[in-house]
Amino acid sequence: MRDPRYDILFTPVRIGPVTAKNRFFQVPHCNGMGHAMPLAHAAMREVKAEGGWAVVSTEECEIHPSGDLTPYVEARLWDDRDIPALALMCDRVHAHGALAALELTHNGPTASNLYSREVLIGPSHQPSKYGYPSQARAMTRHDIREYRRWHREAAIRGKRAGMDIIYVYAAHDLSLAMHFLQRRRNQRSDEYGGSLENRVRLLREVLEDTRDAVGDTCGVALRFATEELLGANGVEISEARDIVAMLAELPDLWDVNVAAWYNDSIPSRFAAEGAQEPFIDFVKKTTSKPVVGVGRFTSPDTMVAQIRRGVLDMIGAARPSIADPFLPRKIEEGRIEDIRECIGCNICVSGDMTTSPIRCTQNPTMGEEWRRDWHPERIAPKRSPRRVLVVGAGPAGLEAARALGQRGYEVNVAEASTELGGRVTREARLPGLAEWARVRDWRIGQINKLANVGVYLDSMLSAQDVLDFGAEHVVLATGCHWRRDGYGRSHGSAIAGFTDNPRVFTPDDLMDGHLPEGRVVVLDDDGFYLSSVVAELLHKQGCEVTWLTPDDQLAPWSMHTLDYRHIRKRIAELGIGTLVSHAVLDYSDTRLTLENVWNHSRIERECDAVVTITARIPNDALHQALLLRGSEWSDAGIQAVRCIGDAEAPGLIAHAVYAGHRYARELEEPETGEVVFKRHFHTARETDLLAGQSD
Ligand code: ADP
Ligand code: SF4
Repeated sequence: MRDPRYDILFTPVRIGPVTAKNRFFQVPHCNGMGHAMPLAHAAMREVKAEGGWAVVSTEECEIHPSGDLTPYVEARLWDDRDIPALALMCDRVHAHGALAALELTHNGPTASNLYSREVLIGPSHQPSKYGYPSQARAMTRHDIREYRRWHREAAIRGKRAGMDIIYVYAAHDLSLAMHFLQRRRNQRSDEYGGSLENRVRLLREVLEDTRDAVGDTCGVALRFATEELLGANGVEISEARDIVAMLAELPDLWDVNVAAWYNDSIPSRFAAEGAQEPFIDFVKKTTSKPVVGVGRFTSPDTMVAQIRRGVLDMIGAARPSIADPFLPRKIEEGRIEDIRECIGCNICVSGDMTTSPIRCTQNPTMGEEWRRDWHPERIAPKRSPRRVLVVGAGPAGLEAARALGQRGYEVNVAEASTELGGRVTREARLPGLAEWARVRDWRIGQINKLANVGVYLDSMLSAQDVLDFGAEHVVLATGCHWRRDGYGRSHGSAIAGFTDNPRVFTPDDLMDGHLPEGRVVVLDDDGFYLSSVVAELLHKQGCEVTWLTPDDQLAPWSMHTLDYRHIRKRIAELGIGTLVSHAVLDYSDTRLTLENVWNHSRIERECDAVVTITARIPNDALHQALLLRGSEWSDAGIQAVRCIGDAEAPGLIAHAVYAGHRYARELEEPETGEVVFKRHFHTARETDLLAGQSD
């Protein structure tokens, strides 16, 4: 039963002509599936509706080919042929009593038009945002009228698709309605430029157009960025206050946040739950219309506090709804401890960034709802009374054990160390990564409820132990360790002077408490988050740190998780030295010889220690030993041995959780044939599917 303290979260909210059944609002979020994978997209949104979200939104939806976002795969409503894909989503969302919302946008100079080959348009002549070697041309008054017409027609198409809420988008530095507000993008001297009133004119007109077009049956929402954190170069909160006052009663709902996306979906390493409050709390005082905002809210107490303190009317969520699509239902049913809390790692964002289906560290079913028929809450019951031995209790082992336990298998987990969680437990102790422990904590919480799962700490298993145990199924999730020899993407062989050098440390050494001192070079051939975390840790310990990479860019993959700018800012603020495009040739005594990767010139550096972050080696010795003793398996009662997660091939925590989940899903299930998951075909067959002629 629901805790009465949370009742307020379940009161309905009117949004113009429609009513949300509760205060949980899945705000628009990208997913890498969009218009290209409409069945997968609809199934993903449906699970959110089933999980209790009163409003389920699309991602950005392009309204015209001149606002084409290729290579990013978003929603699309260029013409009537795009309606069925969104109608499918609406039907699925409505089936669970939720409202469907559509975020219309034309991204002007922040579009690409790589597919449509149209000329980019913007308030004024300006470079395109993402470094494409082309510019946007200044819109004429005719263009502005056309843009308004496209937006209006897209709103009507959205209504025909079944949408209940139509968004006007003026956030994230991504839409013309926002670009006209920004002085740096709008240098016009006509009635659309100059004074604030002029710069707001287009936004006001588009809001009025949308209300006029669909306002009789659809709520009109405005997604608005109150602060760009760019100083006078961007929209500042002082100006945003005036804009909100000018438009206060025009939309039926205000959806407010900070820009750009890297500030809005800020990783947990750089901001806590509810971090946007100081930037958005004025809005509710300025309008009588409901206000929704985000803050990676996972705690119902925080949510209630936001409403009671008059900050928000509705709890907006993208990431918390990805990590746990059933978050509202769990609060409603009084199952707070079952909430799978987002860890703020932004692997979900990397789907959009790499134009691939969204995935989530915490929720391995995200993006698999349609193509694998995976549901975040349901799983097929076990096929047999056979037992499973899970070796290793990192994210892969814990997730395998949890999901196998949910299926009803008798599971035993053996963990060598005296704590659960593997790499998650270790990395969560590093600066800024504490929330990552939620990967472990949620799984332990679930496992503790299952009488059929036994967990044994301090149990380093050998091949003989596994044979003696005699479970029919054995899954090895024994993890990996960091290489010490410098081999990696850039260094194709061991670096001279690294092996057996007590001055060379790995991240494992640091996590074991063995820290270097003095002048330390962090060699990063990994390219993601860890080197910056290690640099920060060592700086805090008083070391003089240089972050070195053979790459041309520091932490390039962190662009995909929106960490990049925050990492660069922090490293710069801490005064940590950086050096790119240099490989290590040799390390002897305290002399490090570096080579410029382009002109091969050499420099020498004095340093007391090197932390090498290049590549990892699977801990697969147990697997290899068991394979060698394959002839003994049947006598021991073993039917199959599998190696998963980092022990198979080191990767992200998300990969390990996924591997554990997939193992559990597929155990003893019949093979599905050649194609392991459903795929989207851009053929007549898909058109038939969308028309509901077959399934
Ligand atoms: P993954 O990310 O694949 O889950 P981790 O490195 O996080 O991998 O976790 C692996 C876990 O396996 C660690 O907690 C480690 O202590 C444990 N482990 C490794 N070898 C053995 C073994 N032979 N017996 C039991 N546990 C083991
Ligand atoms: Fe949260 Fe990470 Fe999942 Fe994104 S991938 S929803 S940030 S846990």
